[in-house]
Amino acid sequence: MFDPICIQQDFPILSQLVAGKKLVYLDNAATTQKPEVVIDAISEYYRTSNANVHRGIHTLGDTSTRLFEQSRQTIATFLGAHADELIFCRNTTEALNGVAYGWADHNLATGDVILVSLQEHHSNLVVWQEVAQRTGAAVEFIALSVDGTLDLDLFALQIKHFNHKIKLIALTHVSNTLGIINPISEILYSIKVQFSSQNRPKIVLDAAQSVPHIPINFSSLGVDFLAFSGHKMLAPMGSGGLIVKKEILESGQMQPWLFGGGMIDSVTAEKTNFAESITDRFTAGTPDVASAVGLAAACEYLQKIGMHSVFEHDHELVSYTLEELKKFPHLTVIGPTTAGTLEKPERIGSVAFIYEGVHAHDVAQVLSNEGVAVRSGHHCTMPLHLHFKWQATTRISFQIYTTKQDIDDCIVALKKVATVFIQ
Ligand code: PMP
Repeated sequence: MFDPICIQQDFPILSQLVAGKKLVYLDNAATTQKPEVVIDAISEYYRTSNANVHRGIHTLGDTSTRLFEQSRQTIATFLGAHADELIFCRNTTEALNGVAYGWADHNLATGDVILVSLQEHHSNLVVWQEVAQRTGAAVEFIALSVDGTLDLDLFALQIKHFNHKIKLIALTHVSNTLGIINPISEILYSIKVQFSSQNRPKIVLDAAQSVPHIPINFSSLGVDFLAFSGHKMLAPMGSGGLIVKKEILESGQMQPWLFGGGMIDSVTAEKTNFAESITDRFTAGTPDVASAVGLAAACEYLQKIGMHSVFEHDHELVSYTLEELKKFPHLTVIGPTTAGTLEKPERIGSVAFIYEGVHAHDVAQVLSNEGVAVRSGHHCTMPLHLHFKWQATTRISFQIYTTKQDIDDCIVALKKVATVFIQ
């Protein structure tokens, strides 16, 4: 197991003072800080290797192309995928839009059903509402239990009811608001029981909150598409990707959704033949090579620590935090109130709560005055908040550099909320 205090030394931003106090950064579900190795990798790329890829027949162009393709390999390996299954995108939102424009628009029609849950981040809901408008398909919701977990019994009935109409199931792997880890293998099992392999709906996994905390192996997960953001896993803003099963790309079920230079084989005034190479076909225009290099550096850094250790650390912090928050009489944690076990974890280090009688923004402001950075509001899950009638919640979320001392500092700051707002 690693020492988060040592890890903090790798992140230059964490040594600064905020409000005259040591920064306690607990807004990691929104975005994470970047270690020196990532910052250096980007800077080094621009200092020594910057050139456009695949185009120039010159040494720098070759170096840049090699770094880009090496980065693709590193990132794909980190996620248990083949290099040519990875399409670089700026973030999870763009990756999910890629599934919508590249696959759903070509494969869905009136009468089809897209199944999502009420846990979804707006990124994994709005995009399907738009697909529904364009194609005539309908968006239906998987029911939630009282603690926000997916109701798997109702899910089994739902897939029986809609049956072959269901063409797409779009689910978050980990809820950014509830911290819940959804049981993907159980869900896939129910689907396998209900559908023949020809009728099986495609599964899109929004892995924005799981990739930073859980070991992920795309090929053993069994989903068809996986979307993730680099900026939530120590990598630069604007880095991320969509992983697509090779057979979907090779069979032509998925089409490019951006067109232009770089993704063609030949062009005449009348017609274009797209590139044979799958990765080229889905890379229109000049890619953000530096961000890909930065993302690969983040993957290597996490790999060195070990994703099992990353998960263990997160699990320990969640258990500790839930116990500490239970001591507050005016505070209600949303989602499961236990972390589960390491073997059967229930939730992850994204803990949102309601402080009775105090608006979430006021809670966040009091914490900010103490140097503690957290999130408040609806966390881009308005349907979930409306469903449970929560006006707004405050969320604390962890990363490998989060220490128990950070949680203790947050708890001390939370005690000030009562002195300011509750007499
Ligand atoms: N899905 C989930 C579960 C998220 O937490 C987020 C970011 N909060 C997103 C999607 C969207 O990620 P991005 O803004 O990087 O596209």
